[in-house]
Amino acid sequence: MATSPGRARKLALKVFGAPLIGEAAFSLFEQYKYWNQGRSGSLWLSQGGSDSKGARGISARHEITLKCNLHCYFCYQGDYREESGRLDELPFEDVMGIYERMGLKSIGLVGSEVFMYKKMYEVLEALDKKGVDIYLLTNGTLFNEQAYDRLFRLKHVRRIIYSIDGPAEAHNKVRGNPKAFQKTEEAVLRTMKHFPVGTNTVVLKENLKILPSLLEIGKSWGLTDWTFTFETRYRKRDFDETYGLVQKEMGWKQGADFTINELVREEPGYAFEELEEAVEETVRAGLRLGIKANFTPFIWRKNLRTYYEGTSREQMTLLCPKLVNREVTIDHLGGVHHCGVYRHSFGNLRERSMEEIWESPDYVRFRRLLGKQNLLPACARCCKMQFASGPR
Ligand code: SF4
Ligand code: SF4
Repeated sequence: MATSPGRARKLALKVFGAPLIGEAAFSLFEQYKYWNQGRSGSLWLSQGGSDSKGARGISARHEITLKCNLHCYFCYQGDYREESGRLDELPFEDVMGIYERMGLKSIGLVGSEVFMYKKMYEVLEALDKKGVDIYLLTNGTLFNEQAYDRLFRLKHVRRIIYSIDGPAEAHNKVRGNPKAFQKTEEAVLRTMKHFPVGTNTVVLKENLKILPSLLEIGKSWGLTDWTFTFETRYRKRDFDETYGLVQKEMGWKQGADFTINELVREEPGYAFEELEEAVEETVRAGLRLGIKANFTPFIWRKNLRTYYEGTSREQMTLLCPKLVNREVTIDHLGGVHHCGVYRHSFGNLRERSMEEIWESPDYVRFRRLLGKQNLLPACARCCKMQFASGPR
């Protein structure tokens, strides 16, 4: 959250002039950044999963609601959402009480769809008043005039990220709504006049061949970059091994104590060469159009075959970004989880402080397990993986 690749790229382009040289300089900058972050991560792990900073400076991604107005076929939260009781959410006062106790400086509000939370604008206004930096992830389909009006009065919205799967037809098909693209386009165009905005596309078999057309759309909207995220694809084998390992090392039973909140997708639906060609073609299109195609995680772009084959744990030394960034995931009821994928609540912020939860024996042990095992089998294609070195 703290870095601004858009700004770094603009600076590189300014200093080095021609887009190609600017691109190379930016790539070097990215490599340095990841090397440096990896170094701090290694240090952190060598301290044994607990550090002298305690819970100070912990940031959070808050899944403020599990509700969503769309029905994307690939949505991993779909099943979780359908289970009874999962649609509850905390009242405004409890949400603010949690933020108060955490002494937040910044927060990422993520969903499902954050604007389905019934008092979302009240939460945003209260955070804004406290000077907390706000990062929002939304599908952008729920704004109306009154909503735009309230949103544009906020001073501390640092970035709004919109998820877009393809041009209108492809996007609407994936999202299960014939007007989704039109609404999101309007949201991007209106909010970008007030806040930094970003667009994110998960690379799927459905959009693999049409990624460059998104750059044309981005260019016509006046964006300087477009982010493409490699899909976090899971094999059943990854799930089974992770459940086995966690049961053995932590004593957590599958389902009762620990769940992997994702869907199994055994095959990607495209060959490695098709992925490689799509990435190169999209980067070339970006250079031609003057809009950066930002593939993330960067580490997968640089190790594309390892990502494709899901062999990163065997071939590289991996570091969980959550450990390096000191970030937790808070669920819709106040439970603290390590990340959005592994569901095990280490404690609830309505009952315990972040300090107690962060330093609880269970959480320290889990962080050490991640370091000891080179993360868990289901981490092999994590879309947040930023730090790795290799070979092992
Ligand atoms: S918009 Fe996001 S949360 Fe909603 S159904 Fe689609 S993927 Fe799931
Ligand atoms: S899936 Fe693994 S690597 Fe990714 S955030 Fe979770 S623990 Fe970290």
